[in-house]
Amino acid sequence: MDSIRKRISEINRRYAEVKEAGLYFYLQPLEAVEGAWVACNGRRMLNFASYSYLGLLGHPWIDRSAQQAIERYGTGTHGVRILAGTLPLHAELEQAVARFKKTDDAIVYTSGYVTNLTTVSSLVGRNDVVICDKLNHASIVDGCLLSGAQFLRFCHNDMTDLERRLRQAGPDKGKLVVVDAVFSMDGDIVDLPQVSRLCREHNALLMVDEAHSVGVLGATGRGIEEHFGLDGAIDVKMGTFSKTIPSVGGYVAGDQALITYLKHVARAFVFSAALPPAQAAAAKASLEVIEEEPARVRTLQRNVEMFLGGLKARGFDTLHSQTPIVPIICGKDELAFHMTALCQEFGIFVLPVVSPAVPANLARLRTCVTAAHTEADILHALDVFERAGKRVGLI
Ligand SMILES: *Cc1c(COP(=O)(O)O)cnc(C)c1O
Repeated sequence: MDSIRKRISEINRRYAEVKEAGLYFYLQPLEAVEGAWVACNGRRMLNFASYSYLGLLGHPWIDRSAQQAIERYGTGTHGVRILAGTLPLHAELEQAVARFKKTDDAIVYTSGYVTNLTTVSSLVGRNDVVICDKLNHASIVDGCLLSGAQFLRFCHNDMTDLERRLRQAGPDKGKLVVVDAVFSMDGDIVDLPQVSRLCREHNALLMVDEAHSVGVLGATGRGIEEHFGLDGAIDVKMGTFSKTIPSVGGYVAGDQALITYLKHVARAFVFSAALPPAQAAAAKASLEVIEEEPARVRTLQRNVEMFLGGLKARGFDTLHSQTPIVPIICGKDELAFHMTALCQEFGIFVLPVVSPAVPANLARLRTCVTAAHTEADILHALDVFERAGKRVGLI
C-alpha cells in the first residue's frame, strides 16, 4: 500500500475499532437544541458540551435580525467583499465589533479558522518570525505554517520560555507573538500582562485569539483585556462568531492601518465570498445583546465557580481551568470513552477529547458550563460525574 492509502486506512481502522466497542460518540446529530437541553437519538439530555456560553442560541432578537436580513437580502452574497459582496450589514457588523472591542475598526471573515489562517499568513512571511504558545488552536498553527515564517513555539504559558524565544528571534526580524486568550482544551487563561510586556520590550506585534473569552471574561464580557484591566495591550484582536455568538464567522479588530492592510491583503477576504446576510445580522445583534444584557455574563461567571468548585471538591483533576471550559482528566483514551458512555446513559451530554488532539495520557471529558444552566442542572451534572467517575475508578 502507498503511504496515502496507508494513512487513510489507519484512521479507518481506529474508527472501526472504537465503533465496534460501542464507544464512538462523535458526529451524533442533535435533533433539538433548546437552552441547556439537547435531544440525541430520541433522548433528552442536559448539554454540557456547548460553546453557547451566554445561552444566546435562539434569542428572539437575534433570530429576528437574521430573518429580517434574509427577507431583505436573501441567503447569499454573490461575491467577495472587495468587489460586489459588501452589504451595509457587513460595515455595520464591523463597526459593532470595533465598538465592542474598543478599536478603530474591524474586518470580518466567514469563519474563525479562516480568520487565523489568513491573518497570520498576511502579517508574516519568509523573513519574519512567528512565536506561538504550544497549546494554541490548530487554525493558528496552520496560519503559521502557511506563512512560511520561521515558526517558534514556547512551553504553555511559560513566560521565561517566551522570552528565550523572543531573544532567539533577534532584534532585527519582524516578530509576531500569537496566543489564545483562553486555551480551548484546558480552559486556562493566558498570562496577558507578562506576554504584552515582553512583546513591548522585544518590539513584537501581539495577536490574541479570543474565541473563548468574548462574552466569558471581564465584568461585561468584553474579553481578556477587560479581565486584566489592560485596554490596548493587544495589537491584533481576533475572535469568532461561532461560540458565545450564535452565528458563524470571525473577526480581527485593531487600529485603522492594520484593518486597511488586511482588507487589501488577506487572501480569505479578497478571494472568498462574504459572510451571508443572516449570519452577519445575527452576529451584530448578538453583540448588542451582550452589551444590553450584562446579567448573562454574571450568571455565567457564577456558574463557572459553582461547577468548577464542585468538580474539584469531588476529587476530579480539572488542570488549571478558570473558565467555562472544564476538562475532566481521565488519562487513557478508553477511560474517557467509558466516562462518556456512562454520563450519556445518565442523561448528561458530554464528549471525550483524546489523542492526538491532547497528549495520550491526558484524555478527558471536555465539559462546558453555560449561563443557560440552572443551579439544579449543575448539581445534577455534578452528581452524574461523581457516579460515573466512581464507577470507572477515576475518583
Ligand atoms: C473554535 C476556534 C477557532 C475556530 O473558529 P471557527 O469559527 O469555529 O472556525 C479558532 N480559535 C480557537 C481558539 C477556537 O476555539
